[in-house]
Amino acid sequence: MSETHDIVIIGNGILGYATALELVRTDPDLRVAVVGPSDREGSATAAAGAMLNCFGEVTHRTLSSEPGRTKLELSLHALEAWPTWLDELNNDLADDRQLAIREGTYVLLNSCGGQLDSLNYRAITNALSSYGRKYEILPLGDVPNLDPATNARPLEAVHLPQEGSIDARAVLNRVAEVARQRGVTVLDDSVVGWRQADGRAQGIELRSGGILSGGRFLVAAGAFTPAIVEDLKDTTAPLMPIFAGVGVAVTCKATSSGLRHVVRTPNRSGGCGLHLVPGDDTVYIGATNDVLLKPGAWSSLGMAHFLAGGAMEQFDRRLFGSSVTAWHAGNRPLSLDGFPVIGKLWQDNVWVLSGTYRDGFHCAPVLARHTADLLRGGTGVLGHDLFTPLRAPLRTMSREQAVDDMVLHCVSQFYQYSPRLAPWMRVTDGIEVQVRTRTEATYRELGSDTGLAPELLELLNWGEGRKHVLAAFRQYLDAAA
Ligand SMILES: Cc1cc2nc3c(=O)[nH]c(=O)nc-3n(C[C@H](O)[C@H](O)[C@H](O)COP(=O)(O)OP(=O)(O)OC[C@H]3O[C@@H](n4cnc5c(N)ncnc54)[C@H](O)[C@@H]3O)c2cc1C
Repeated sequence: MSETHDIVIIGNGILGYATALELVRTDPDLRVAVVGPSDREGSATAAAGAMLNCFGEVTHRTLSSEPGRTKLELSLHALEAWPTWLDELNNDLADDRQLAIREGTYVLLNSCGGQLDSLNYRAITNALSSYGRKYEILPLGDVPNLDPATNARPLEAVHLPQEGSIDARAVLNRVAEVARQRGVTVLDDSVVGWRQADGRAQGIELRSGGILSGGRFLVAAGAFTPAIVEDLKDTTAPLMPIFAGVGVAVTCKATSSGLRHVVRTPNRSGGCGLHLVPGDDTVYIGATNDVLLKPGAWSSLGMAHFLAGGAMEQFDRRLFGSSVTAWHAGNRPLSLDGFPVIGKLWQDNVWVLSGTYRDGFHCAPVLARHTADLLRGGTGVLGHDLFTPLRAPLRTMSREQAVDDMVLHCVSQFYQYSPRLAPWMRVTDGIEVQVRTRTEATYRELGSDTGLAPELLELLNWGEGRKHVLAAFRQYLDAAA
């Protein structure tokens, strides 16, 4: 075998690189390699805004379960870690390469998303107050420089001064630069197989034909992780399934848009809500969410229409004249129970860090520290192992609650397309019955009581190749029971 490293990291997104940097900072003698294709096609990090939101991500389900509360604590921990983490990164960069967090997020409650928006918005303000965090309610939704269509204006908004944003691609670029400066080996390549002996991984086979040997391995390849670890599987315990939440976003020239802070809706319609993240002279508008069994990466006319229409109508009509500078498409790693997947696999020298779904960028400083500690033989910094990869699904809601949520999300989706109804047309009653009937039938076919997120139920209800999808879910749920 060629070259030996102490630790080989598979995946060149934010989580792979941030963990590599953490490792060499703590122990400069460690030989660490990061492997991943330089085009990063389908990478989540390369498509993210990114909002550094914690309470902005809360939903009406977050605080009602132990795993939900634990996940919020992780996000809070990350919020606190970001300023120091970024200072440390900046210390290794020339003055003109340094980055800063743009402060502040406004969450809008408007009438473009159905009752779900009200539930999630109220859950955010309640969580802020129960955790004693700073926030300011704008009773008439008077967000500075917002310019929505009158019939899509916010009814109320909440300002989260402690939650901001940063350019995800710029951060990734700088973390990779500093990791290289500090001695991390970077390979522009892909893993296509494993070399194993005596129940341990010995090395990885590269697309270019070489083999890289190592002592310990971390697979941090986002939604691509399940395919990479497939060959390592044994029958002792099933790996938590990880799907691909394909998200499309667009960057435009800011032109006359005056928005200087993140503006967003609550999470809605099986997605992360509509959001606008300002840059120096650009605005990023995100994001859609289509859950697939395997990663894909595309943007369609329908996605373009949804994003552009929503942003102009709900945030800023002046965006109409903005020129598009880039489309982004990436795969959010979504686990079957919606929680991160972190820890050791079947072999005692292979770990996984994935399943971070829609806030893995925000959580990166803490997840990197935690995983680096695990790789060095420690117990991590999270103080629990709830997110271990070979787990049964974490329970956050009942089957009945999952069906109710699915109905809320579908009705919300309906209103996002701005239908105008005569007052006597109770069209959504029909949608509710249709979605409920379909989802209950899916649950009967699945034969499980596990409460699943609406975006997964959408895949099971109407997704392409649904028989195959149902079989994959059943296989894991039976094995994990
Ligand atoms: C549109 C969109 C918007 C988002 N917005 C936000 C946000 O505002 N805030 C936030 O916190 N999070 C956001 N997220 C989520 C966030 O981006 C992810 O949680 C996080 O970036 C995951 O990082 P990662 O390093 O695990 O995965 P990735 O960034 O996907 O990186 C995995 C890497 O592995 C590489 N790879 C694939 N196959 C192989 C192989 N065989 N061998 C080696 N390497 C391989 C890929 O090329 C890729 O570069 C968003 C995601 C999307 C898609």
